[in-house]
Amino acid sequence: MGFPKTLQEFQATFPDEASCWATLRRVRWPRGFICPRCGSRGSCWISTRRLEQCRSCQYQCSVTAGTVFHGTRVPLLTWFWAIFFLARHKKGISALQLQRDTGIGSYETAWTMLHKLRSALGPRPEDRLTGLVEADESYVGGTERGLRGGRMLVGKTLVAGAVEQRKHSAGRARLAVLEGLTFEHDLGPFVRGVIDATDATVRTDGFQGYRRLSKVGVAHERLVQGSDPDRSAEILPWVHRVFGNLKTWLRGTFHGVSGKHLPRYLAEFVYRFDRRWREGELFGFVLNRAAQGEPLPYRRLVAERTR
Ligand SMILES: [Zn+2]
Repeated sequence: MGFPKTLQEFQATFPDEASCWATLRRVRWPRGFICPRCGSRGSCWISTRRLEQCRSCQYQCSVTAGTVFHGTRVPLLTWFWAIFFLARHKKGISALQLQRDTGIGSYETAWTMLHKLRSALGPRPEDRLTGLVEADESYVGGTERGLRGGRMLVGKTLVAGAVEQRKHSAGRARLAVLEGLTFEHDLGPFVRGVIDATDATVRTDGFQGYRRLSKVGVAHERLVQGSDPDRSAEILPWVHRVFGNLKTWLRGTFHGVSGKHLPRYLAEFVYRFDRRWREGELFGFVLNRAAQGEPLPYRRLVAERTR
């Protein structure tokens, strides 16, 4: 089934709430319902309550159980709009804009929806970088314009980046928030966690923090850039460009992001970056992730917000 690329296609594909539920059922169980209790196939669809009922054991299961839509009171059609904007807009969408565009009652709801979607977009751990990989780190954030005018101080957050260097372009990217710059707790685990050590060579600048990579079995090229900062961009062109694009995106779309929520923005950025050649398919990709994603309880999001 084709997924919408334009507003007209969206409205033709998803004219109402029922069409969204039917699509979610198909995406969730592409080969048909499989009962989570008894494992048998075949179900009745109780459309009034949007429940799937197992033909063998009568177990009832919500289509949204175990997805990011778990327990939602927001219409699925509104969720699908959120996915459409997140997937089809090159720069994603802010909670404020989503609230305005869809008429969602509260900013909190729009904010929560987008973060739940982002939480499903992280790279799969087994999907590791290969070939020549540039690694570097940068400070992200700082003073930004506040949501309702004025300026708010957003602390700088240390972000590690790794980007595959291909012949004429970048390959895939990985970004993560770091607590510090030690090899043991920060740089080492980051690099080893994102590369396939049997098939990757990591290139860094002369920073001491990476020195021990080769001692832990990572093929490492350390290029000392001397005192010229421009050399660093020459040595590590793609990871520099990724950091630049990330900062522009965070400033332009969100007017700054606090450090504690940054990991989910990084997940969205990398998700889009890695699929930048397949933009037309993004709606389906994101919907798939959302249908398979772990539900992120609102409690946890809110707890993170007030902490
Ligand atoms: Zn059953």
